[in-house]
Amino acid sequence: MTRDNFSSLFDLLPIGAYRTSPEGKQLRANQALVRLNGYATEAEMLSAVSDLDSEWYVSPQRREEFRRTMDTQGFVSNFVSEVYRHKTRERIWIREHAHVVVDAEAGTRYYEGTVEDITAQRQAQLALGASERRFRALTEKAQVITLLCDQDLRIRYASAATRSILGREPDSMLDAHAFDFVHPADSAASQAEFVHVISNTNSGTETVLRVLHANGSWRYLATLANNRLDDEAVRGVVFNLRDVTDSHLAQERLRTMANVDSLTGLRNRAAFEAALRNVIASGDERVAIHFIDLDRFKLINDSLGHAVGDHVLRAIARRLRNAAPGGAVVARMGGDEFAVLERIGERSRDAIEATARELLRVLAEPIEVDGIRFQISASIGVSLFPEHGGDFETLLKNADLAMFRAKSEQRDAFRIFEPPLAAAAETRITLMAELRSAIEARQFEVFYQPQVALDSGALLGVEALVRWRHPERGLIEPAAFISDAEELGLIGRIGFQVAEQALAQLSHWLAKYGRPLVMALNISAYQLRDPDFVREMRALLARHPGVAQQLELEITETALVHSIEGTPEALRLLSQSGVRVVLDDLGVAYSALSHLKHFQVHGIKLDRGFVGALPDSRVDSAIARSIIALADSLNLRLVAEGIEHEDQREYLLARGCREGQGYLFGRPMCAADMEVMIAAMAAKSAVTSAPATVDGVTTTTAVAP
Ligand code: C2E
Ligand code: MG
Ligand code: MG
Repeated sequence: MTRDNFSSLFDLLPIGAYRTSPEGKQLRANQALVRLNGYATEAEMLSAVSDLDSEWYVSPQRREEFRRTMDTQGFVSNFVSEVYRHKTRERIWIREHAHVVVDAEAGTRYYEGTVEDITAQRQAQLALGASERRFRALTEKAQVITLLCDQDLRIRYASAATRSILGREPDSMLDAHAFDFVHPADSAASQAEFVHVISNTNSGTETVLRVLHANGSWRYLATLANNRLDDEAVRGVVFNLRDVTDSHLAQERLRTMANVDSLTGLRNRAAFEAALRNVIASGDERVAIHFIDLDRFKLINDSLGHAVGDHVLRAIARRLRNAAPGGAVVARMGGDEFAVLERIGERSRDAIEATARELLRVLAEPIEVDGIRFQISASIGVSLFPEHGGDFETLLKNADLAMFRAKSEQRDAFRIFEPPLAAAAETRITLMAELRSAIEARQFEVFYQPQVALDSGALLGVEALVRWRHPERGLIEPAAFISDAEELGLIGRIGFQVAEQALAQLSHWLAKYGRPLVMALNISAYQLRDPDFVREMRALLARHPGVAQQLELEITETALVHSIEGTPEALRLLSQSGVRVVLDDLGVAYSALSHLKHFQVHGIKLDRGFVGALPDSRVDSAIARSIIALADSLNLRLVAEGIEHEDQREYLLARGCREGQGYLFGRPMCAADMEVMIAAMAAKSAVTSAPATVDGVTTTTAVAP
């Protein structure tokens, strides 16, 4: 190749080419390089350039490096530098390939090389790099996984967020099918949707899928799929998966919270209502609604604290759940009210009653909290669908009415709704309102039940039992309103009205008949909490001198008494006045025995619940016998309650119980009736007192002097 030929070829090259001296003198430049440097001709450029070292490279270090590499290695390749476009001093980026050429004849060395202007390319790359970095930052930091899948949904790219969200290395997911990680229950439905996305370019879909975390748990990912198969830059389906597990679980929790009572884990009222409404709507199922109300729960809460109250409610909930028949819905309706929805099918009334009885039985088992053992009593009212109503409200109201009736008849009882109940009992709500006005109108009356010597039948005393003389409904028994009065904070005022009447009555009888008659007064644990109680009682006693020595206070709910602040003190103060304290319903509140240590007790009453089944029940007999032995060894007065039959009297008497009360001797009666009995007894004892004392048996009885 001639020199000219070479020159023309040299000039035709699309990239710059040069020859320089190692010292930096520009010897040759082809047309491309001349233009790169802003000149028109080679001559123009060669005359303009004097020292390439200082005039071309933006960074002198870069030129140094170039020379060092050429000298040590003999060539450079892909050498990228920032240089000045020589004529304009504009900065551009170039890539050089160069080598050292040695002319052996002339004994000279040259640098020959090519120069490519890569400014535009580099800018594009920089921009790309920046956007890529931005992209990476986004995909890596954000809680969003980006997956790129091919049209078979094989994963071709996974962003770094798979680490934080799924505990998986992005690379480990490559080539897997996108749905390999999706919950089977979700994938069937969603795959169809994604197939639609895949077959329709530029379409998208969003859904929440459960995706398997490496640790085996399921994450809820909001998944956005975008078909970019037609987009040359993508050629795939892009999935964006956002972790919404927490909010999803929160929502799910909210959903269940809306149905579940958070304290007991039972269904709540809303869920119960929904279940019952479903039954009603389907109309082809018979159900029984057992409405359960605990007695005196507020007292537990107030005196033992909410923690104990909560404990009791949870224990009750557990028992109800276990005792409820299969398929039943067990719910806490609020406060201390529970309900069981029993599917009864063709079952008889007996079977429904058996369920109610079983529920009562498990509720009556003693509960122990913080070493205190006590018993919860409850009442159950039952309504039946479809017999007793065709809508939720009516069925519940009727169950509530039946419950109320059960409560007023006897504690620990159940009642199935009977249509007349509604008319007779009206609603409890009205009753509540009426209680307040009853106090104002002084509608409470005291009835008296005789307490007698079991051997001779001699009258020893009376128990004062309150009755509510309702202007329309007539006489209402205490069980129907005492616990409500307690919870409404009204028991103190009712109790005071009772005490006022009873003490006046006792004072009158003592004066008239001159007999040492004992008067037993029922005092609620609520009253003992009232700081005014002792003061009021003392004021009353001061009004009736000589009565204190004949007065006995029967304390019920003794399981709770010792935890009530100031209680033993109140009892001690009253004892100082000569008043005696008796534990009522012993046997029901087992822990009552511990009170024998805490404050001075003068007597105990054997609960009628243990007397009723005498003498046949072995358990009740054993309890009765041990309470008799206890009273004996502690020298306590013992009165057995609820004696209805002669064989009960005989049994108790034979075991050493000398006193009792019950329908066998007399029902609670008004003061006038009681007075007839007292008068008769006084007359009789006046006649028979001599033989009575002679047998020596009735020496403990109150005989007129
Ligand atoms: P308690 O103190 O255990 O009273 C005995 C209850 O047994 C009375 O019910 C009485 O009528 C009933 N009874 C008596 N003998 C028999 C019998 O042979 N068979 C049956 N089945 N029952 C019998 P009552 O009068 O309905 O009183 C219920 C409860 O109400 C009382 O139980 C007492 O805890 C409470 N109470 C009554 N009067 C008052 C009061 O003035 N103040 C307070 N705080 N509570 C009262
Ligand atoms: Mg009593
Ligand atoms: Mg009692």
